[in-house]
Amino acid sequence: MARVLVAGAAGFIGSHLTDRLLADGHEVVGIDNFITGNPRNLSHLHSNPRFTFVEADVIRPIVVDGTFDRIYCLASPASPIDYLKRPFETLYAGSDGTRNLLDRALADGARFLLTSTSEVYGDPQVHPQPESYWGNVNPNGPRSVYDEAKRYAEAITMAYHRYKGVEVRIARIFNTFGPRMRHDDGRVVPAFSCQALRGEPLTVFGDGSQTRSYCYVSDLVDGLVRLMESDLREPCNLGNPYELTVRELATVIADAAGSGSTVVYKPLPEDDPKIRRPDTTRARTVLGWEPQVPFADGLRVTMDYFRQTLGL
Ligand code: UDP
Repeated sequence: MARVLVAGAAGFIGSHLTDRLLADGHEVVGIDNFITGNPRNLSHLHSNPRFTFVEADVIRPIVVDGTFDRIYCLASPASPIDYLKRPFETLYAGSDGTRNLLDRALADGARFLLTSTSEVYGDPQVHPQPESYWGNVNPNGPRSVYDEAKRYAEAITMAYHRYKGVEVRIARIFNTFGPRMRHDDGRVVPAFSCQALRGEPLTVFGDGSQTRSYCYVSDLVDGLVRLMESDLREPCNLGNPYELTVRELATVIADAAGSGSTVVYKPLPEDDPKIRRPDTTRARTVLGWEPQVPFADGLRVTMDYFRQTLGL
């Protein structure tokens, strides 16, 4: 049994990771400042004696008793509308937040895992994206508050490894979906699911020819745990190579809802990446990890969750 700190525990992925670590028998301390996380995501854990929650912001030094064996850093706004609404919180979470958690890892002798992002590849010109690709990021465009914060987070994580000897892991997370996403977080799966369930038109940005690849959350969490427990110090893509255009996704979700929703076209946000699909060779060969949940199965569970959330 390990003592594990999960920063961002009340978020979508953080709460699923917390569940998984508790199920594996570990003691977990979760921290979150709730700017995008939701206390309801952890409410089922209140009576679990191996779980403690501390409301805290990672941009300040991490004051939690005891020492940790593992630190997972997931604390950051992560959906485009969230980070565009909270540019400074996003920049500070990636910079000061990552640094504070690395300092805690250094002090405790803990192993540290950074959740980085496919956004470090920007609007990629290489397809699919391997970890060796350095990316095509606009360093001062609207999305840079997230992309560059995460690129800095990778840089400081590797510096703590190279110069201070901290054991580090870096996951580059691609688009992930599942229950506990906020229905209004603006990301495409919750947006289309809720629109389709309400019988509203689905809002396709641009002409909908841009692609994303969608990983179900339990697969992603399994990848994070495997990466943490591996010897891999280089960044590792975690995502499902299952790639769809946004227009195809709209059709699949409208069909799944059976509500006969139509599509309306809206302007494409600035710097919206045109193609995105992970090269998962490294995760497959080094971690023995491969997504297991078919997209249709994950989507069914996710849409059931939104049906409940919306009271439909
Ligand atoms: N998108 C869309 N309609 C929406 C929300 C998003 O067409 O209501 C598009 C968005 O422009 C992007 C893709 O869906 O091309 C995925 O967007 P999301 O915000 O989920 O994540 P991103 O991969 O851009 O971070």
